[in-house]
Amino acid sequence: MTSAPVDPSAPQSAPVPLIQVRDLHKIYQVGSEEVRALDGVDLDVEHGEYVAIMGASGSGKSTLMNLLGCLDTPTSGSYSLGGVAVQELDDDELATIRNEQIGFVFQTFNLLARTTALDNVELPLVYSGLSRGERRELAARALERVGLADRRSHRSNELSGGQRQRVAIARALVNQPSILLADEPTGNLDSATSAEIMELFDELNRAGNTVVLVTHEDDIAEHARRVVTMRDGRIQSDERTR
Ligand code: ADP
Ligand code: MG
Repeated sequence: MTSAPVDPSAPQSAPVPLIQVRDLHKIYQVGSEEVRALDGVDLDVEHGEYVAIMGASGSGKSTLMNLLGCLDTPTSGSYSLGGVAVQELDDDELATIRNEQIGFVFQTFNLLARTTALDNVELPLVYSGLSRGERRELAARALERVGLADRRSHRSNELSGGQRQRVAIARALVNQPSILLADEPTGNLDSATSAEIMELFDELNRAGNTVVLVTHEDDIAEHARRVVTMRDGRIQSDERTR
């Protein structure tokens, strides 16, 4: 069988971006007042990008991240992740996409305190259909990737802040998500530990992971290759920095 010849002059169809957000709004009703946390956001993120989202406190960064992470639903607008129209999914489908496609890292780590590093990382695999042994193997490998192989049996409350964030990153990675989202991942860490965590994000991005992180520190944002600045629920600027 012969395949059709490739015409080099033919227009290439643009690849579908990993994230495609259009006119996204999130309005909170607080008493009689409407809070426009997101007020018409358009955003595309391609596979393999490394994006920092900046902006003053209250500008809508976390609201946007929670929508991108399928942790919340918008008031209006559209969001497609890997070509799937997220706004059309029901709660079960959202839970599945969240579990399979998204790794979310929080400022406060959100680990189970009296649970070992290995068990914390294994949690997202509970519904994977894998055997216990396979789950433990994948969790151990994810801990290795973040440099914590020797801490697998430590409980989270026996780990430092930087180590806890590494466990949280391993947990975010264990399902091989298509995107890693991090909301102020270094917000609770000292500057030396922050630098180590940022090196880890750099390394994960170099390995092909798409990374979107929120920060309000310029030196953290400098790690990314694109900086999106928010103001009053809108994107104020969007610049490639490297
Ligand atoms: P950032 O992460 O940039 O600090 P947020 O996305 O957390 O900003 O908040 C954006 C705006 O939405 C703020 O005015 C905030 O007070 C408001 N907001 C966020 N979450 C809620 C909520 N659950 N209920 C009411 N208002 C909210
Ligand atoms: Mg926030």
